[in-house]
Amino acid sequence: MLTAMLLLTLLSACTSTEPETPPLPAAAEPKAPEVAPPRNVLVLLIDTLRADALAEAETPNIDALAAGGDAVGHAWSAGTWTVPSVVSIFTGMSVRQHGWDLPTGRLGHYPKLPAVPTLASVLHDAGYGTFGLYSNPYLAEELGFDRGFDTWRRSSDTAMAKRLREEVATWGDDRGHFAYLHLLGPHSPLRPSPEARQRWGVDDSWIDEKKGFGIGAAKRGKEEGVREAYAAAYRAVIEDTDVLVGDILTALGEHRADTLVLLTSDHGELLGEHGRVGHGTWLYQGLTNVPMIIDRGALPETLGIASVPAIVTDALSVEHPWATAADAALPLIAQREGNVALSADGQHKGIWMDDALSVYDLDAESPESAPLSGDHGLPAEWATWSASVPPGTLSEDGVTLHPDTVEELKALGYLE
Ligand SMILES: [Zn+2]
Repeated sequence: MLTAMLLLTLLSACTSTEPETPPLPAAAEPKAPEVAPPRNVLVLLIDTLRADALAEAETPNIDALAAGGDAVGHAWSAGTWTVPSVVSIFTGMSVRQHGWDLPTGRLGHYPKLPAVPTLASVLHDAGYGTFGLYSNPYLAEELGFDRGFDTWRRSSDTAMAKRLREEVATWGDDRGHFAYLHLLGPHSPLRPSPEARQRWGVDDSWIDEKKGFGIGAAKRGKEEGVREAYAAAYRAVIEDTDVLVGDILTALGEHRADTLVLLTSDHGELLGEHGRVGHGTWLYQGLTNVPMIIDRGALPETLGIASVPAIVTDALSVEHPWATAADAALPLIAQREGNVALSADGQHKGIWMDDALSVYDLDAESPESAPLSGDHGLPAEWATWSASVPPGTLSEDGVTLHPDTVEELKALGYLE
């Protein structure tokens, strides 16, 4: 049976221009090498990473991933803050489908992850070792993010390479392994290195030695140049994070060659576009357009992050309950607390905010500077899609986060 990954590769090969002259005798044609499925998978999630900012920053380690594989042109987040989006990445469901679409202000009391198969639980049941590190305190065990993981452990971004190296040292020949590393990356508060500050012209005076550069000041926008400084510091941290990605890939050691690496993000950040800073409840491209990069094989040109479980399990030839990436390429959907963004063709994007629809052309030079006239059939597309996806409901029994976790979340700006 062809894996979806192989099928995608074949499909993309079929689109190349046919030669006008008759082909050489079969014996002279190079035969495509048999591609063995990878043995292990590493998913790297860099929190709050916009696709356009990644493209602007100097990130040789992340660029090298795409060089041997593929990067999705229009990859979309599922929600626009960590929990709803990571629930989608773990369960393969849209936010509408899993129903975890709550505001960040409910600190202390949250419903758990829906009781459905997750990427880690499917791989665990298939015999894989499962290892996860996370630096965003929201991904706590209490909320069920550890489901399916042999190890699920809090870690700073900078300690992840060392911890992965220790884990990889235990990997034997008996089974494959799945590792999920969730880095905070350019999530507020920002602490760019002196070198990256210099490259991006970020004056040291913006960065509090203890607290870093919190997004609150940029949101308020009172000080002259604060938003520009925050946007520069954001890109500086992306470059620092790329160095950490290099360390993490090196930590795979001899397993680098047989490990598929997928890099993505849970959502972006507005950095002054539309007069806004932060996640808010908006669905503009700065929030919805995230990177999705794979170091081997090919991916569709449009894809949502809820396809991560299907991509990984298809690449490993593990049976799974999700639609393959090719089947889930369109429509692109993101949602946040009742607001919805949808694109049925990867070009026209509709954003319903407070029930008003604005349509944008993503192929335009500055796509969301002004809405198009007309609805471009998007209400009908939304009606068709939403009719096929019943909204999920969350279990009533919530969990209360540990007071220390709540304090950490406050420090990350989740109460501002
Ligand atoms: Zn996040």
